[in-house]
Amino acid sequence: MINIRQEVPLFSYNTFGIPATASVFVESDDATELADFVRSLPDPSSAFLLGGGSNVLFVSNRCELVIHPVIKGIEVTAETGDDVWIRAGAGEGWDDFVSWCVARNYAGVENLSHIPGTVGACPIQNIGAYGTEVKETVETVETIETATGKTVTFNNQQCQFDYRDSFFKKHRGKYLITAVQFKLSKRFEPNVKYAGLKTELSRNTHVTMENMRQAVISIRSRKLPDSAELGNAGSFFKNPTINTAKSREINELDPQAPLYPVSHGYWKMSAAWLIRHAGWKGMQDGNVGTHKRQPLVIVNYGGATGKEVLDFAQKIIDSVDQKFGIRLDPEVNVV
Ligand SMILES: Cc1cc2nc3c(=O)[nH]c(=O)nc-3n(C[C@H](O)[C@H](O)[C@H](O)COP(=O)(O)OP(=O)(O)OC[C@H]3O[C@@H](n4cnc5c(N)ncnc54)[C@H](O)[C@@H]3O)c2cc1C
Repeated sequence: MINIRQEVPLFSYNTFGIPATASVFVESDDATELADFVRSLPDPSSAFLLGGGSNVLFVSNRCELVIHPVIKGIEVTAETGDDVWIRAGAGEGWDDFVSWCVARNYAGVENLSHIPGTVGACPIQNIGAYGTEVKETVETVETIETATGKTVTFNNQQCQFDYRDSFFKKHRGKYLITAVQFKLSKRFEPNVKYAGLKTELSRNTHVTMENMRQAVISIRSRKLPDSAELGNAGSFFKNPTINTAKSREINELDPQAPLYPVSHGYWKMSAAWLIRHAGWKGMQDGNVGTHKRQPLVIVNYGGATGKEVLDFAQKIIDSVDQKFGIRLDPEVNVV
């Protein structure tokens, strides 16, 4: 059923806890209704598509139109001896979906446990954690093209997944995701590429999918602030890619600096390391700061506006650039 409300405060719809207002807020659990609604709009490009609000920073005090799909449902659509295809509605909570899969021993998303947000947003930045990215399991993404109201289905290749990026992120607001189909495996092979996960699981002689999920949850709970207590949107910045010459400079400063090869002559550098070594770990400026355990996370200590958060982030960008000649790029969607 479609529900259209006016003057809706967005405070509780974003994990940063930023005050903003939607002039019109539209919620529906039905893809056909949403397509009809989009078709009726004079300017569909003005709509902001909102999931769980765990990766947005509202800088403007007002959003003219917010569309919030709450389409539910998780179903197995096909299976073979080895694999299973599962379709989930955009409005399902991402971690509820992971929990559903783990409970049935469907493998592939367990390392992505405890990431906030919705299924509908998981392809947007190709969510990733602990050596897994969602692109490894996404089969198709069902959308409504906002300009026309037509249904368009993307296969994995068409999604153009990349590190914290996709076709949808590059074309924000052009496609409203209504459902995602995943291909998971009935054979569980633990992915312990991430060293911390291996350590966390070292007490288990036989690792089950549930062990893996619990290990991820306990690492995340230790490392990351709970947004119900301290507003944040997870990592504020992406890990930058640097060339070999720059990686050598970093290595001279710290031979232990976390650098991972990505392609010939290019390295992924830890943004957290850069921020910490530029002196920003645990720093607070007014209502905003970096988290004391994880400098990559910018937190709202209470009462911050989106502009204050953005200004603080800009200071970090400038400072890291000045010190290391590397420009950080925000991961969070600034609205
Ligand atoms: C504590 C914390 C930890 C986090 N850890 C991780 C992590 O480990 N890995 C990771 O990748 N991310 C992480 N994140 C970021 C965030 O959880 C993910 O990016 C998540 O996928 C965002 O989902 P959402 O539903 O909250 O999207 P929102 O924040 O509502 O939206 C994010 C973007 O997606 C678009 N969007 C949302 N829904 C739709 C839709 N149905 N159709 C079209 N566009 C849509 C929005 O317009 C916006 O541009 C973390 C965030 C927090 C707060």
